[in-house]
Amino acid sequence: MKLFRTELASEFKDKLFDIESVELTDDIIVAETKGISCILSAEKTHYGYQLNGIINTQISLQCDRCLNTFLDNHNIPFNFWLTSDKSLTETNEQNVIQFDSNQECIDLKDVISELIFVDIPFKLVCMDDCKGLCDQCGTDLNKETCECKTHNKENF
Ligand SMILES: [Zn+2]
Ligand SMILES: [Zn+2]
Repeated sequence: MKLFRTELASEFKDKLFDIESVELTDDIIVAETKGISCILSAEKTHYGYQLNGIINTQISLQCDRCLNTFLDNHNIPFNFWLTSDKSLTETNEQNVIQFDSNQECIDLKDVISELIFVDIPFKLVCMDDCKGLCDQCGTDLNKETCECKTHNKENF
């Protein structure tokens, strides 16, 4: 997702951007995303440009318990500064992005990949009460029951 300096300089509000999932970095688990959209506003400031927006995406993830894939909706608000001021970028603030005065455009794909990546929970479950797979016969216990499950219960 590229933004041009000319575009930024004329400012915009609540502009919709569609982002191709292939634009995302390979190490992210959103390989099968249904698409990503981003509503973005840009403002000129004394340090450069301020970007405010929200990313909307639906990601296909695999449940840790039942191994089925499920769709997970993510709405991720964000706020960035684009600046050529090194004293700002050297603070290592996560939301400050280097944008040198000789750069014609800036590609936000890594930043957006990172935002989505961070938003994905560490434990992936398709629903809070997912019963998972039987650890003995592999039956998906959300869909059916099995003999060993009842057997296990009796042992408790
Ligand atoms: Zn599950
Ligand atoms: Zn079983």
